[in-house]
Amino acid sequence: MNTELLKELAIANRILFNEGVLDGFGHISVRNPEDSTRFFIARTMAPALVTPDDIVEVDLDGVVHDSQGRKTYTERYIHSEIYRARPDVHAIVHSHSPSVIPFGVTGYQLRPICHMSGFLGATTPVYEIRDFIGETSDLLVRSQKLGRTLADTLGKATVALMRGHGSVAVGESIKQAVYRAIYTENNARLQLQAAPLGNINFLTEGEAQATSAMNDEHLDRPWQLWKRRALEASQ
Ligand SMILES: [Zn+2]
Repeated sequence: MNTELLKELAIANRILFNEGVLDGFGHISVRNPEDSTRFFIARTMAPALVTPDDIVEVDLDGVVHDSQGRKTYTERYIHSEIYRARPDVHAIVHSHSPSVIPFGVTGYQLRPICHMSGFLGATTPVYEIRDFIGETSDLLVRSQKLGRTLADTLGKATVALMRGHGSVAVGESIKQAVYRAIYTENNARLQLQAAPLGNINFLTEGEAQATSAMNDEHLDRPWQLWKRRALEASQ
């Protein structure tokens, strides 16, 4: 059974809320290690309130398999289509974290500004939903077709921005996806602070790769801190 994994997913929801990445909205999922065509995600609810009992299983067509008939988020296709396109991805965070938004709407690129966010690589792709559904949508990824176009935009990257909406961060594990979502928000904030001061000296592609590999060795350290803080905050 996946009891430990579901516990970890519930904690991840609380961490992402506590660290300012998720609010009343946004979600995190994890691929089922016993069936790669399915993933786990909370039923439709605020992330900070998620417990293991609130988690449902969804297939890659976005169909929910739940004995209680519960529903999950409208934007589950973000997850299903990225899992379909990226066998290397085992966890996905979709958030509306605020500092990221300016980069999706200005053409000003989100790039790694410090050694904690080397995973961003050379540049961060921006998903323009208008190209696929016209100018009157509510910007939500409501269908398999839109999920597929988002997965195409993400390509091999770790993070994609969604114009006027938010972002998606992927990882090989819950801990890596959570780390990336938190440090994407941090990097965006730092870049906004640095930009008025002058030209930014970003990490080179080589530095981005090396720092990303280095940080992947230490994902458990911040995870334990974030977990403690989130559990204390929810008491
Ligand atoms: Zn959204």
